[in-house]
Amino acid sequence: MRIDVFTIFPGLVDDFASESLLGRARQQGMLDIRVHDVRQETSDVHHRVDDSPFGGGAGMVMIPEPIFAAVERVDPPRPLLYLGPAGRRLDQAYAHQLAALDGFSLLCGRYEGVDERVREHLVDAEVSIGDYVVSGGEVAAMVVLEAVGRLVPGVMGNDTSADDESFSDGLLEYPQYTRPADFRGWSVPEVLRSGDHAKVERWRRVQALRRTVAERPDLIEARGGITAQEQEMLAEFDR
Ligand code: SAH
Repeated sequence: MRIDVFTIFPGLVDDFASESLLGRARQQGMLDIRVHDVRQETSDVHHRVDDSPFGGGAGMVMIPEPIFAAVERVDPPRPLLYLGPAGRRLDQAYAHQLAALDGFSLLCGRYEGVDERVREHLVDAEVSIGDYVVSGGEVAAMVVLEAVGRLVPGVMGNDTSADDESFSDGLLEYPQYTRPADFRGWSVPEVLRSGDHAKVERWRRVQALRRTVAERPDLIEARGGITAQEQEMLAEFDR
């Protein structure tokens, strides 16, 4: 999968995507992440990428020329997604949709954002990481890279490990424990050490259900409630 990122801070994104899971996936050729410096496309001596807004007001706006020039020179994989608070909110379902593509591209804004003509005539869609404002699209692009990258087949060492994570079936994940079995007097639930795999499965399902009911009732509603079979499972464990 190829993902191109357009930014005026290429180092931020490139460094981030060089470590850990993404870095390994890049090295192994599973992810082709290319970061492009929009500032290199400027034609004036000062390498300006921003200017004051027509109509007045605070802050600066990214000018269209270098952004268009960078995208047209590279001809990156489409869709080209602009990171911005007005976009479709990223969630696990959207991440899966992006992970199913052969490639896509990301455009990071800075300052007050990009000239509207970039949104109208250059990008294909807008993606938001949530209802808050960050100072630049880079951190948002990194969120997209991580959420999508780990869903690309082969990127996570164990291919099944994305399957039972939070949101994969409309539920939050069950609690995880590792050694030691007893830490400061807090012990790991007995069932996890019982060796009864079917029971462990049921316990995990129950914990995922309980946690989701408690923390995110909206997710339970979205999946259409709790099934009769799940009700039965809930009754099997008192906590
Ligand atoms: N003036 C804009 C915010 C600009 S923030 C407004 O009020 O909508 C500067 C840049 O950060 C934006 O161009 C965008 O690329 C990025 N950004 C800010 N918040 C974001 C969010 N929630 N999701 C994705 N990108 C975001």
